[in-house]
Amino acid sequence: MLDGLRVDPGSSARIAERDPADRLGRDKDEGEMRLAHLSERIDELQYLLYAEDRRSVLLVLQGLDASGKDGVLRRVFHGVHPTAVTVTSFKVPAGPEVRHDYLWRIHAALPARGALGVFNRSHYEDVVAVRMLELAPEDVWRRRYEHIREFERMLVDEGTAVIKVFLNVSRDEQRKRFQERIDDPRKRWKFRRDDLKVRERFDDWIAAWEDALTETSTEWAPWYVVPADRNWVKALAVAELVVATLERLDPRLPEPEEGLDGLRIE
Ligand code: AMP
Ligand code: MG
Repeated sequence: MLDGLRVDPGSSARIAERDPADRLGRDKDEGEMRLAHLSERIDELQYLLYAEDRRSVLLVLQGLDASGKDGVLRRVFHGVHPTAVTVTSFKVPAGPEVRHDYLWRIHAALPARGALGVFNRSHYEDVVAVRMLELAPEDVWRRRYEHIREFERMLVDEGTAVIKVFLNVSRDEQRKRFQERIDDPRKRWKFRRDDLKVRERFDDWIAAWEDALTETSTEWAPWYVVPADRNWVKALAVAELVVATLERLDPRLPEPEEGLDGLRIE
């Protein structure tokens, strides 16, 4: 299932050719059951990761507005101990962030050894938003692809597994979700007129993401394009990726102190 979502290093990401409404061969009930199981697995495995205290996991989440980046986290980490996951949401750089290189705030937010970190948006805004909004000239954002590949290689070499997910929402599903934001008083705060400017150039944004994913899907940190029109499908896919990564790391409990067998506490 995950193989089909992977952007093979060296090949084109072809986001526009993928079906955002794909069900990954499952029906909803089955998918929800599997998700509940995966959520428990994440909790078990993160406990070992924390106890082992040697490696960490970073999940990078990207996707256009209303692709459901926040919602997917609620579902995937539903059954997981609250201290186990740290989420960082990256906004337009401000304050000290603009006075440093673009990776400065990223590096500072990485999960420590033993931890599981999530980035809601990331350094990839610095090659896509910056490009689309013309915040820097092409030679500046284009050379960042190489910086990013090498930065992530360093992270992986030093013990951080990197999972990168692009939530692929369709233009029509985005329309529905924007409309819902406008119509529902509890959601209206999320909507900004500027979101419509991005939407007007939906296909160009997808093309820019396609370039970014194609350039930065590597053996050490591959991208996955996850169908995002159905909430249960994207949660399932992300949960599968997190579990597969943790299982590959296979964290172990550290050796306890010697001589504790049979020790009785008075
Ligand atoms: P939201 O996720 O809806 O709160 O919006 C955050 C906004 O910040 C999005 O429009 C992003 O494109 C923008 N953003 C995040 N990081 C950067 C960056 N490095 N450069 C430019 N815009 C960014
Ligand atoms: Mg927004």
